[in-house]
Amino acid sequence: MVKHSKEYALSRHEFESFVEGCRQIDDEVQKQEALFIAFTAGRLGMRAGEILHMDKSWVDWRNRMIDIPSQDTCTKNEGQPCGYCKRSAKEKAERSKMTLAEARLEVIQNKLLGQLESIPGHVRKQLSTAHIVSINGDLDVSSIDSQINSILDGCETVKDREDFKESLDSMAKQYREENLKEEEDMLEKQWKPKTKNASRSIPFDWCPRAEIQLEKFFTLYDEFPYSQSAIQRRVNKSLELSVVVDKQDCSPHGLRATAATELAARGIPAPTLQQLFGWSQISTAQNYVSSSPERSQKQLYR
Ligand SMILES: [Zn+2]
Repeated sequence: MVKHSKEYALSRHEFESFVEGCRQIDDEVQKQEALFIAFTAGRLGMRAGEILHMDKSWVDWRNRMIDIPSQDTCTKNEGQPCGYCKRSAKEKAERSKMTLAEARLEVIQNKLLGQLESIPGHVRKQLSTAHIVSINGDLDVSSIDSQINSILDGCETVKDREDFKESLDSMAKQYREENLKEEEDMLEKQWKPKTKNASRSIPFDWCPRAEIQLEKFFTLYDEFPYSQSAIQRRVNKSLELSVVVDKQDCSPHGLRATAATELAARGIPAPTLQQLFGWSQISTAQNYVSSSPERSQKQLYR
């Protein structure tokens, strides 16, 4: 069975033992780096990719917030995007591969509407609506095809539907290829938060220890100076030195889940949790809220 990241979350007791593990690291600088990761991930819920790209300018000391930018040009690798960014760009391009149905809709909207001048107004309108709904991601991909069919039904100017569909398909395939290439090129150059919701502000003054680690870290550095593997190494080292938690019990992602569990236990409602963690789905937040043992306990006492 696939383990959900929620299941890699540390309890309060385990998290304290993890922090103790960080403090056991001999090297003073590495110790501060481990603690910085522990609190930015394990209490503020930042992703490894975000910590990796963090610099001083993200910290709004006056309002006690970390502002994660909507996009940032990654120059971590001597002016070039770092390995993390290259990998995630590739993954993202793979994931965002348009389906043929989506490409058909794009082609109709962008290329064919002009050519099919005699398309009646109401059909044009239907097309535009289907297009907008699909861009917003609210239209089930599988239903785009039936949508197109019903639109063609209402369109007298498309006499030979099979011919029309065939040429539409070949245009859609080409469109999809071009689009993928463009996306890959664009992503290669930039670091981007994982989802459009990922750009967000995270308050940190509710956790004084996180605030102290931020201060200490940005006294040492202007920006996070290492690659992703360093985050993993600091976390592993701290887990090794922890008395309570083992190496396989947690990960940088598990630390983020730890923060979500903690905030759910403190009574943060799902919509706020979603915003703080930058999840695209509210269900992820609801999952943390509904499974919080502290919450059930409180409800029982009430
Ligand atoms: Zn990068």
